[in-house]
Order: sequence, then C-alpha cells, then structure tokens
Amino acid sequence: MKMSKILIRGAKVLGGEPQDVLLDGETVEAVGTGLTAEGATVIEADGQILLPGLVDLHTHLREPGREDSETVLTGTRAAASGGYTAVFAMANTHPVADTAGVVEQVYRLGKEAGYCDVQPIGAVTVGLEGKKLAELGAMHDSAAGVTVFSDDGKCVDDAVIMRRALEYVKAFGGVVAQHAQEPRLTEGAQMNEGVVSAELGLGGWPAVAEESIIARDVLLAEHVGSRVHICHLSTAGSVEIVRWAKSRGIDVTAEVTPHHLLLTDELVRTYDPVYKVNPPLRTERDVLALREALADGTIDIVATDHAPHPHEDKDCEWAAAAMGMVGLETALSVVQQTMVETGLLDWAGVADRMSFAPARIGRATGHGRPVSAGEPANLVLVDPAYRGTVDPADFASRSRNTPYEGRELPGRVTHTFLRGRATVMDGKLA
Ligand SMILES: [Zn+2]
Repeated sequence: MKMSKILIRGAKVLGGEPQDVLLDGETVEAVGTGLTAEGATVIEADGQILLPGLVDLHTHLREPGREDSETVLTGTRAAASGGYTAVFAMANTHPVADTAGVVEQVYRLGKEAGYCDVQPIGAVTVGLEGKKLAELGAMHDSAAGVTVFSDDGKCVDDAVIMRRALEYVKAFGGVVAQHAQEPRLTEGAQMNEGVVSAELGLGGWPAVAEESIIARDVLLAEHVGSRVHICHLSTAGSVEIVRWAKSRGIDVTAEVTPHHLLLTDELVRTYDPVYKVNPPLRTERDVLALREALADGTIDIVATDHAPHPHEDKDCEWAAAAMGMVGLETALSVVQQTMVETGLLDWAGVADRMSFAPARIGRATGHGRPVSAGEPANLVLVDPAYRGTVDPADFASRSRNTPYEGRELPGRVTHTFLRGRATVMDGKLA
C-alpha cells in the first residue's frame, strides 16, 4: 500500500522562519515555502515548532516483569504522546536485560507496539549485581544491536569492573552509562543531604556520593581511552567535574532530567512520596547550575528517567515509598518552561539536547537527523503557546506518579511522526 503524502504548512522548523515540510512515505520529501502536493493531507501548523522526533536515552519500560507499572506498549504510547520517536529502555527489568535473549525480546516488543523505536540498554553486570560482566558482546551482536550499557538503579561501584566494561565496549564504539552513586555514602539515604534533611531528620544523600563516582569514572575513561556517559547528573559539583573533564578532552557525556531542572528538595517538606526520586531533588543552587550547564553544553542532553510505579508503591509513608517519577509526557513542557522561557536555550538548542545529541550518544540510526529532504520523517510538532494543567488521568502511561499534577506547564505536542506515520494526531494518540 502506498502511504499518502502529508504537508505540514507554516511550521517554524527548529524555531526558525515558517516553512512547509512535505512528507512522502517514510521520508521528508521537501522543505520550503509555498509547497503544494496533490492529494496530500494538510496540517496547518501556524505558530507551531517543528523538531526532529525526540530521543530519550533513559526510559524505564518495566517489561518484562513489572507490567503492573508499565509495558513496552503503554510506555511507548506515553513516549509518542511526549513527542519521542526513540527511547532507550533501561536494563533493570525482571529478568534483568543482561543477555541477548532479553534485549531481543524488548526490541521485538517495541517493533510490535509500533509507537516509538525501542533500543534496549544492556546491563553492565550479571543481574545488576556488580560482580561479573554481562555478555556485552553478545548483546551488541544480537538483533537488538545494543550500544549503551548500564546497571542504572545501581552504580557500577567496583572500579575494576568499571574499567573492564569501558575497555570492552570501546572495541565496538559502545558506551557505559553510569548511575553515579557511591553505595556506602548513601546507605539509608532518603533525600538530599542538606538543610532540609537536617530539619526533617531524614537520612541525607550527600552530593559527594555522586561527584566522587563521576570523578573516578572520567579518570577511568581517560585512562582506558573509552567514552563514558553520566546518567541524571544532579549537583553543581558534578557539573564542575564534567566541565573539567571535557576541557581535558575526556570523552564524557552527561544527562539531566527535567525534574532536576525544575524541582528542589524543599518539596520533601510535604512528605509526598511523589517527590522521592533517585538521585534526589537537590537545592535551588544545583537547579540553576544544571540549567546553565545544559545551556552551555557541559550537560549534553535531557533524559527523562521515566520511572513508572504502581499506586501502591507510592501511596505510602515516605520511607517505604519507591523512588522515581514518570516523565515522558511532560519532559518537553518542563524544558520549555525552564530553558526556553528563561532565555537559556532556543528551539534549535532544544532539538540538540533532546534529539540530535542523545541519538548521537546512543547511535540511534535514523533519529536525531536534520529536518531536510531525504531524511527519515521522524518529527514532532509542538504548540508552544498552549497552557494547560497537568492531569495524570490524561497520561498514556500505565502509571500516574508525576510530580507535576495540578501544575500549569507550557506547550503541547500536537503531532508526532514515526517514519512518516502519525503516532500522535491533533494531540491524540493515533
Ligand atoms: Zn539511575
């Protein structure tokens, strides 16, 4: 069957001057002004921003094993709603994605769902136990073609294991994504260590627990000549270390989550477990340093760390609650509010931090490409003038643990295209 043509009229491509973009089948056929196409479906996009489809390097899809919180289908529907055309699925499933069999299963489920490309992340160590390297080569050579490896949720804290992993993935251009958290320094930690934790009497999570691992790992990456990626960087001190490492020529990249760009540990005073997350919400000073680092490129990308949890794992006392927040469906709005509306980043910058750069780091073929003729039609159309209140009942995700419920956030994804096919049309899943 021949796919029909789609003409997107008058969209600001990467926030620039209004242009028409014609899609033919799976590709962008033309970008220009005054384009026409007989029989094409026309989308009037006055005032809307057209970006390459977003790429999330850090998503928890929970399948296999915790389908009560999310499945590949519900998670990719959430991703499409949020403007994503590719997500990297973290390995901390049950069973753990530490074999070719499991990563191929997740990859295949993504293909079957058809909302968003799913690129599985392989575990660094068997069972995320930090003791023995997983079969990294077999996962890379599998149909899933794994290039990103992470024990996310746990830190690869053994320096020798980390060194071996960096050496191993170097051979095929892979990358280790580190959840930087020194385990001994964070035993029993419930929130950021600081003024608020002292007042509330909750176990604190010191910044140095994150920073010491980042410092070690950039030095290991330099020593081995491999690249390393830092997950969800959350402190001003971590920014300084990554900035130093980059100035030294070390091949390090880093991500920040939307929630660390907006929320602070003051929210923990509510004792609402929706604010409990790993790494924890930090201080205003950290938030401002993270925004600045994302603007100047010290932090390369925004990644959601979308972490769905069922109601019962969050609807309990603070100490017992699971850590994590859903984020795929609100990420772009939070970035618009914290980075675009503050003047720190323009839309071309958003395209870089949420599509070009993550696709490059994860080697996501066909994603993070320029909006120009001949490129795959992986695109998202955003209405930046929209203002709305977050209602978790609207989410496509199976989970509802958002910290933004009732908050007004700007912007709305109106259309998402995966290889020319609308996965979101007029703000609704297609
Ligand atoms: Zn993590």
